[in-house]
Amino acid sequence: MSKWKLVTEFTFDSAHYIRDYDGPCGRMHGHTYTVRLEATSSTLHASEHCPHPVMVADFKSLRWAKKDVTKGGLDHGILNDILPDNYETTAEMIAQYIYDETKKRIPEGVQLKVAVSETPNSWVEYEE
Ligand SMILES: [Zn+2]
Repeated sequence: MSKWKLVTEFTFDSAHYIRDYDGPCGRMHGHTYTVRLEATSSTLHASEHCPHPVMVADFKSLRWAKKDVTKGGLDHGILNDILPDNYETTAEMIAQYIYDETKKRIPEGVQLKVAVSETPNSWVEYEE
């Protein structure tokens, strides 16, 4: 079956610490996080901003986390304060959190993969 894969990448700057981590990661520090989202679908959809079924998912819906924390995103926030208690602020669980929150914003049936990087040489990917 033919399908579309939409890929978008963005960064946000935030502070965090890993709870009970014995070492520097346990102290508050910051990263420029890079997020790469892949959305795959065999059908196209309308969106909140466009009434015609012409897109996998709206870029605006996929890139919500790039927004300032005061506008509902993750930029310039403290991730430990933003993420619910059942998520730790490891790259693994930030990816899972972005996955879970993005899923709520995009059409049903769109397959999503979320990759998060804290440093240029390391990535974590999450998908269901
Ligand atoms: Zn860190």
